[in-house]
Amino acid sequence: MKIDERTAALQQRIKAAAERAGRNQEDITLVAVTKTWPAEVVAAAYRAGLRHFGENRVEELAAKRPEVDRLLGGAEEIVWHAIGPLQSRKTTLAADNADVFHALDRFKIARRISNRLVERGMSESRPLPVFIEVNVSGESSKAGVAAYNWEEDSQQRDRLLKLAASVVELPGLLPKGLMTMAPWEVPEEVIRKVFARTRELASWVQSQRPDENWSNLSMGMTDDFEIAIEEGATHVRIGRAIFGSRR
Ligand SMILES: *Cc1c(COP(=O)(O)O)cnc(C)c1O
Repeated sequence: MKIDERTAALQQRIKAAAERAGRNQEDITLVAVTKTWPAEVVAAAYRAGLRHFGENRVEELAAKRPEVDRLLGGAEEIVWHAIGPLQSRKTTLAADNADVFHALDRFKIARRISNRLVERGMSESRPLPVFIEVNVSGESSKAGVAAYNWEEDSQQRDRLLKLAASVVELPGLLPKGLMTMAPWEVPEEVIRKVFARTRELASWVQSQRPDENWSNLSMGMTDDFEIAIEEGATHVRIGRAIFGSRR
């Protein structure tokens, strides 16, 4: 199958999952994860109708973004999502190349991205919307603010709220919501529970900070996006179902 056929089939599955949950497909943003794929492949995905692209490494994003622009003759409506965890020495690359950041997990990163946007005079014209990544499964391999016991542990809740407050205070950033990754190779009920608890955590943050928008949920990949949509995902990050196995 080609990218356009795979994309059409995927959009059907997204629509069906949304309908099962009584939701609208329009409320779900499909972020096509293009890591490892060259600019030509991204251009083909663009021609198949996709407009949101995700990269987990910001170096790759910084290299690919201008190449895609060149191939498409400047495609202004493309939105580039940085979806992977960030080291502090790479915050400039993220600030300069991402339109949305999904994996904020600590204050230092938030401050450095914001400072860069302020320095470039872009904090007002183009503040960066951010998802705070939360580790709800408790797997030690997962990035994100510890939230595996958020219902019981007020320290976990406090740390998350503190980071949320700093996102709002920093001039270069905009609140967007929470992001999570489900555990791998576990029964469906376990995955579903992680997504449901992330949705409940986002509603709790929203209830604590009612004047801001923390309502978006970035969760769901090729193997689990239907469960994520049924549990409230507004952004799904999908690579293999569109592009096939990675090179
Ligand atoms: C690679 C990646 C994805 C997409 O994974 P697929 O299994 O190819 O759909 C989603 N989110 C993050 C953070 C990733 O690194």
